Parts: sequence; structure tokens; C-alpha cells
Amino acid sequence: MLDLKIVNGTMVIPGTGLVRGGVGCKDGQIVAIGPEFGMEDAVRTVDAAGKYVIPGVIDPHVHLGIFTGDFAAETETETRAALAGGVTTTGVMMGGDQSYLGMLPGLIETVEAKSSTDMFFHLSIFTPEQLGEIRRYVEDFGVTSFKFYMCGVTGVFPNVEDEFIKQGLESLVDIGGHLTGLVHCEDQAMVDAALAKVAAETPDGGLREWADAGPAEAEEDAVIRACRLQAETGARFYLVHMSSGLGVKAAAANRSGGPLFVETTSPYLSLDKDDPSGLLAKMLPPIKDASDKEALWAAVKDGTISSIGTDNVSLNREIKGAEKGLLNAMPGYAVLQTHLPVLLHEGVNNRGIDIERLVEVTSRGPAEIFGIYPQKGTIAVGSDADLVIVDLDKEQVVDETKLYSFSDFSLYNGRTLKGWPVMTIKAGRVVVEDGEVLSDPGIGGFLRRTK
Ligand SMILES: [Zn+2]
Repeated sequence: MLDLKIVNGTMVIPGTGLVRGGVGCKDGQIVAIGPEFGMEDAVRTVDAAGKYVIPGVIDPHVHLGIFTGDFAAETETETRAALAGGVTTTGVMMGGDQSYLGMLPGLIETVEAKSSTDMFFHLSIFTPEQLGEIRRYVEDFGVTSFKFYMCGVTGVFPNVEDEFIKQGLESLVDIGGHLTGLVHCEDQAMVDAALAKVAAETPDGGLREWADAGPAEAEEDAVIRACRLQAETGARFYLVHMSSGLGVKAAAANRSGGPLFVETTSPYLSLDKDDPSGLLAKMLPPIKDASDKEALWAAVKDGTISSIGTDNVSLNREIKGAEKGLLNAMPGYAVLQTHLPVLLHEGVNNRGIDIERLVEVTSRGPAEIFGIYPQKGTIAVGSDADLVIVDLDKEQVVDETKLYSFSDFSLYNGRTLKGWPVMTIKAGRVVVEDGEVLSDPGIGGFLRRTK
């Protein structure tokens, strides 16, 4: 007897295509795929007629606890928001200037107790001490991805020099296997100069002026350097949150053929600097022009971009401080629950991106890059039964008061989006139905990765 079967839907299996039929789940895994007749009976049968069944979304770029400092509380609320939006696995960026060795056991315990998604960590590397401990992070804790900031976040993270990044990448290559370096690509000196100019000339500006503080050229310049570092070291290298047409074009033009992956985010694919959200949408790198948004979609289509995350940084209006002006408002926004609907609306329904391609960049791509494929990222016998049923025709208005995040605003509030997840299945259990989370915190676990 199966625990659950989903029948009559169209499965989206990346690399295979669209497959009509049923999927059966037992003990947390997918155990059967194919024609419904002859499939074992199940405790629960879900009819997905007229809908798509996709692998659970993997958001590889999430921050938790950045401004509240409360990792446990945000793990609980923000991963519920994720689950409600069809995200069943999150990759969370950890940052700080201390050794992570003492912290990781407690962080992992928190994930096991509070998280509604499965979760893996990326550790930011700022100090020689951390760099020297990479092998232990890999071997003792199953963390296999490490982030470097070419450009810092004022008051939050410093930047590191290219030479330091190169040493980091060399040590990843030395340790061997499937280790990945992540890099925030913006040129620090160009950003510093642009910010000083904005501070002097348009300190009372809005989102439009904020865009001038992180020009596309600063991203382009850093991408070229990052491509060179990748070529010199041969390391697997992942460029996070590309925000500009110049950035993705530089990545396409300068890649050496080695393992270089490019990420963008759902906000960059859906918003531009004239957005009515104003400074609530302040971010680093800044949201740019409408033409950048279109260039990013073109890069999703042509394969330059292989992964889409959120760069979720949850904060409420009080912490955000949008009314304090472009220099003093905090960067970030909570977007986990709207990630998939925004991409279905803007990508599949508005721009004709085919749903298989969308699944490649929101699930299979991040799973392969970060070493959790085919446990995650596909619909296959033996894979974890993390599935989302999607109704591409469903239209719904985003209501910020109804989202699961602790944040009290959404950049998409009041917008009608077409294309919504209507059911989330995690480890073979229905955990979200019509937007309502049915499971308790702690159904997710920490993903220990092997190199
Ligand atoms: Zn980030």
C-alpha cells in the first residue's frame, strides 16, 4: 500500500520532459511513476487533472536571522513561508568572522527542530582561520559550498581580496570532489565611488536613485575577474544574484568552459527600479532597469543562468526603515512564499518560458550544482517525494497580511499573479493545501552533503 499517489497530472521531469501519469510515494520516497492503472492503492489519492506536478523547488540562496539575529525564530517562520510557496529545500548562507566549528552543531540542531524545509548551508569565508578550516567543515559537517564577497555589505559583511578568494578556490580544488565556491560579484571600488556620488547628489532619492549606487558596470567588472579566477584555479564557481544584463553577458562571454554557474533571483526577474514598492525594495545589488530584467529572462532561456534563488532577507517595515531614505533603509525583503508564483506568472505565463526550463533552473539546476541530485531536483524512483502541484491558470491577488513570513510587507502586495502552487508534498506527505501549511515545524532536516 502506497502512502500517497497523485494521479491524472502532467509530471514535469527535467531532462525527460512532460509525462502524463501517476506518481506513487511510500516512506518518504518516490516508488512508482507511470500509468495509473495497475499502480498500487494508496492511503490517499490526489487528483491532479489539468495541473502540473513538479519536483519541490530548491531555493539555494536564503539568509535567515540577518537583522533580527534570531536564526531559530526565522528558521521556523520563513521555512513555513517557503513550504507554502512550494519551496521544499533551502540553501542558507551563514556569515560571520568567527570559526564555524563551534557554531555548526547548534545551528544544525535548530534546523532539525524548527525547519519546515530540508536545508543545507553555505559558509561565508572571511578570515584565514575559516579558510584553514574548510576541510573540517566538509568532513565533519557535510558543508560543501563556501561564499566569498568581492564586495561587502556596509555594516554587515566586509569584502575580501581576489588573492584570498583564489586561495579559497585552490583549497576547494585541493580537497577535491564536488565542492563549490560562491561569489558576490560587484567591484568594491566602483560601488564605493557610486555610493559616495549618490550620497552627495541624491540622498533623498528613491529606488531609482538607489540603483545608481550599484551600477551594472560594477557587476560586469567583477564577473570578468571571477571568470578569470575560475579559469586559473579550475574550481567549481557559482556567481550569486546576477542583477544586470551586463553581468550575465560578461559571464557568457568570459567563461572558460570550466564549471561556472550563474544565479539570478526572482525579484530581479520581476521588479525594476520604477517599482511602486519604492525603498521597500532596496537591495544589494540594487534592482536595476526594466531592460536588465528582460536580459536576465533571456539568460534563463538561453542557458546562461542555471539557477534561480530568492536572496531572501526577511525583515519587517520597522527594521527595513524605508522612510529613513535610500542611505539608511536596510537592504532585503521576504520573498520565499512568492518565489514560485512570481516565476510562473512572469516566466511561464507572461514570457512563454516553458515549464520544463523553469523546473531546470528552480530545482534540478540547484540540486546538481550543490550536490543533492538526484535525491532532490527531479521526479524519479528513489528520489525524495518532495513534489508541488501547480495550477498554471489559477489567478490570485497577493495579500501581504496572509503570508507566513514574520515580515509585514510583500513587494507583490495587491498584484494578481497567474500560476500558483496548490499543494506541496514533502517526504510523501501533503503539507500544504490551498496555501495553508498543515505540518508542524521540524519536518525538515539538515542535508549533510558528501563531497
Ligand atoms: Zn545573499
